[in-house]
Amino acid sequence: MTASERRIRDLLIAEQVRIDGRATKLERDIAALTSARRSSVDDDEHDPDGEPLSARWSLLAGLLESARDDARQSAEALRRLEAGRYGACAACGEPIPIGQLEVRPFRERCVACTP
Ligand SMILES: [Zn+2]
Repeated sequence: MTASERRIRDLLIAEQVRIDGRATKLERDIAALTSARRSSVDDDEHDPDGEPLSARWSLLAGLLESARDDARQSAEALRRLEAGRYGACAACGEPIPIGQLEVRPFRERCVACTP
């Protein structure tokens, strides 16, 4: 493994720790919100700030889904790295510039091929 691959691996692992923390916090928030909804039978659609709980719940659920998606992509990037297939664009096959990978280490496509 080259020095830059090792650096990318460290970035990916740090990224996974961050994503895990984010997902865990969101799961906790969703659980708290779910029990808040259950306990406020009379006014189950509004919290004191006036924001509907269902809207808040949808927002958190969406964020959790995206955190899980990031976790999946990050795990796949680590597998590609271990297999020596990391850093090639999934669309055009060209090597993705290291600067782009450092910004977004689990990127699967180069900037030009990203829709
Ligand atoms: Zn490409």
